[in-house]
Amino acid sequence: MKLLTIEPLENERQDEDILRSCKILRTDAKGRAEKEERLWFQFPTVEKYPDSDDCDSYLLAMFMEGMKERRKIVVKGSVSGELLSNLVELQAVWDKWDPKRYGLVDIEVDHIRENGVRAPGAVCAFSGGVDGSFTLWRHSQNKCSYRSQKINFCSLVHGFDIPLADTGAFEVALKRAANTLENIGLTILPIRTNYREITKKWTHKFSAALTAALSNFKYLSGTCLIGSGKSYDELVIPYGSSPITDHLLSSGEFDVLHDGASHNRVEKVAQIAEWQKGVSNLRVCFQASQNGENCGKCEKCVRTKLNFLACNQPVPDCFPESVSIEDQLQGAAIKKFLKKAAKKNDYVHTEWQQILDYADRHKVKASWTVAVRELLEKKRWIDLFKRK
Ligand SMILES: [Zn+2]
Repeated sequence: MKLLTIEPLENERQDEDILRSCKILRTDAKGRAEKEERLWFQFPTVEKYPDSDDCDSYLLAMFMEGMKERRKIVVKGSVSGELLSNLVELQAVWDKWDPKRYGLVDIEVDHIRENGVRAPGAVCAFSGGVDGSFTLWRHSQNKCSYRSQKINFCSLVHGFDIPLADTGAFEVALKRAANTLENIGLTILPIRTNYREITKKWTHKFSAALTAALSNFKYLSGTCLIGSGKSYDELVIPYGSSPITDHLLSSGEFDVLHDGASHNRVEKVAQIAEWQKGVSNLRVCFQASQNGENCGKCEKCVRTKLNFLACNQPVPDCFPESVSIEDQLQGAAIKKFLKKAAKKNDYVHTEWQQILDYADRHKVKASWTVAVRELLEKKRWIDLFKRK
């Protein structure tokens, strides 16, 4: 039987930081070594962090690799019993969603841990985007009724959307996030990892990866808040983060809450518009050349500007002043992007439609609404053509 073995290494001190890591060993059906890698997480020294033997983070990071490669997973350390139980169900979800890509695999563990006591308060994943800002804003301001969580601190991961080699961009993003959070009395802890250098298919795994990274802080905060990307009425399946699956990433010491699916992107923007500092520091752009700033020109930047306009708000100053939104909508780049997305029936179209629907409902009329309506009209023609 082919195996994926996770072997925890001793936690190390590196200057002011802690480095937690494990060996990932793949062996073939005859037990011969095929590949050996090291997965690591590095974060500032905190009061209490998981023991060297604790493999929750490593298993969260690697279980879908095992499913993809149909390898039994062997963990040479301890794993939370609750996490193991959840992963049985989570595997079943992926087996139903994408059975060609993923198969059910056994997980063998040296030691199963009983549930500990979850530390009070929450850690919130925060990269400065709309989803994280919305979650952070509504919980920190107690706007979520009985469900509001007390956020202890936030965390930003280096090695996910910003490559490890791009330290300059990460510094800019971290500084920007810290500046936003200071405004509401919170701090941010950075964490670095080589996760993306040793795994594939990010869009299926990003919540698992995020939980793997943030669970290193489980003794500081026993709850993890993950801002949703899609609303309940427009869920995208299969997808790496959803209200169906994210809670199944929870362990005995770390409860994962998928937050914000009650609102779509434009509704979230309508809420955070009242948080001036949050809006001024939004970071939504993943264009690699932007050094942690928003380019203002890519589809996501343009879409976010439209989110604000649909709420009758000005385009925030987190976007560089450049050509007008009308000119951008007429530009070749956006047209080409939407045409391509239309052919794939991409969820991006849904988000553009939500902008228009929101503007219509709130009687916002402008030249940009005409331009967006025209762009979406073309999609309907493509859909009609496809049905024939
Ligand atoms: Zn951009």
